[in-house]
Amino acid sequence: MIKIVSVSLIALMVQPVFVVLSGSAEPLPAPKPLASSDKLNEEKTSLPSPKPKLKKNPKPEATAATDPAVCVLDETEFTSIPAIRGEHSGDAGCGIESPVRLSNVTWNEKSVQFKGAVTVSCEFAEVYTTWLRQDVMPLAEKHFEGGLETVRSGPGYQCRRRNNQPGGKLSEHALGKAVDISHLQMRNGTTVSIEEDWGRKTKPGRFLEALHKSACKRFTTVLSPEGDEFHKSHLHLDIGCHGKTCTYLICQ
Ligand SMILES: [Zn+2]
Repeated sequence: MIKIVSVSLIALMVQPVFVVLSGSAEPLPAPKPLASSDKLNEEKTSLPSPKPKLKKNPKPEATAATDPAVCVLDETEFTSIPAIRGEHSGDAGCGIESPVRLSNVTWNEKSVQFKGAVTVSCEFAEVYTTWLRQDVMPLAEKHFEGGLETVRSGPGYQCRRRNNQPGGKLSEHALGKAVDISHLQMRNGTTVSIEEDWGRKTKPGRFLEALHKSACKRFTTVLSPEGDEFHKSHLHLDIGCHGKTCTYLICQ
């Protein structure tokens, strides 16, 4: 009698340690047999199984086939939306396989909002948001107190020909691989406008010059107001393929 009680007490004392260890090392080992009077206690205090994140899916084929392509973007709030098929908008060349709608990006614990709905391919979103976080936000912070707050741009995806010229080549916008930035709003109240501030020897002008330089290192096409008459009011950025090996860059 005395012996059984002492075993129970020891079991109760070591029980929490045992449960934590078993929970972190392996999700579901059968608890070691204890004195029968302890079994209920053990069951009551068992931690819920953490298996969904730690265990591999037992049926990967079943979900891989039905899951849409997963888009992973660092420090970015976005929504994955169903594939856009060009034929629905009258041009079979248009469309995006893995479109995302961007909401905001974060760098250094500060967020930048996208004004209006920006829909782009996951591939473009990765380059765009990385550029904003690693180049534009730090640059804005250097030039303006508080840094960048919002980016105003076109919608990204648009089923259309280049420069809206009928009969022209399909625009990178039609593939979700381009965006047109028109304004950058700073937290200190300054609005930097591509149309107004481009080429000026002012703080916003110098900021745009640095921004343009950084964009040319990330995108395959950068068209500024210096480029042509179609880009007086915005900065066009895309990741289109130029040349046979897609290595040719356009920085204007
Ligand atoms: Zn454009």
